[in-house]
Amino acid sequence: MNDILKIARNCRHYAMCKIDFLDTGICASGTEKHYVSFYPQGRMDLYAALIEKKIPVTEKCIEIADSCDLCGKCDYQCYFVTEMKPSLVMKALKEHIRLHPGKGGEILMSEHDAILDGLREIVGDYWATNDRAIALTYSHDPSPLAEPKMPEYVIMPNSTAEISAVIKLLNSHNIKYAVRGNGSSVMGFVMSKGAVIDLGRMKTIHFDEKNFLVKVGPGVAALTKKFFRKLRLSVDSG
Ligand code: SF4
Repeated sequence: MNDILKIARNCRHYAMCKIDFLDTGICASGTEKHYVSFYPQGRMDLYAALIEKKIPVTEKCIEIADSCDLCGKCDYQCYFVTEMKPSLVMKALKEHIRLHPGKGGEILMSEHDAILDGLREIVGDYWATNDRAIALTYSHDPSPLAEPKMPEYVIMPNSTAEISAVIKLLNSHNIKYAVRGNGSSVMGFVMSKGAVIDLGRMKTIHFDEKNFLVKVGPGVAALTKKFFRKLRLSVDSG
């Protein structure tokens, strides 16, 4: 196994690349596109799956590879926790995708079906997909107890109304689903061969000071220094 593939296969899904715990910044494409595949963790899985020919090159692979600007921020976070440098994998992923057409490789376009169309009507075109490059990064966990399951659909709703409508639609087609937030349980609880509903877009925090309540969206993974700086500023300014 080559060294780059070793790094990719050793991602432990700690998901620390999704949290700015070092105050060094966070992967810009991940925070914009939200699907796990756009974070360093997902790109590591994607690279390994492509090299091991577990999935074909799809249209989302191109978007995922292109959206990494090789900023290297993930190296700080990943090295701190696991002593790995994911940007080496990110470079290799870009190169793999760049060379693919020249080697006569095809690019698989995603096929629509009535269920996908219905899901997209609820959450918007971008936020429901059956592309294998997205589904793959929701399909396994590095635990011997977690049996891999590749979902047919990944959906990212952005409100409770959207969650409710998505679940009604899935139930009406007898499609099993799992719901997850920032990370996975490492025990396989958030995997499903039907659909995975990722709540990572729901990152709102509402303070109800009168009632001493805070409502935290299910996509909030951690409160970073930046958050506390902002909070302090807003308290100081009245
Ligand atoms: S190198 Fe790529 S994957 Fe890593 S943080 Fe920068 S944009 Fe994200």
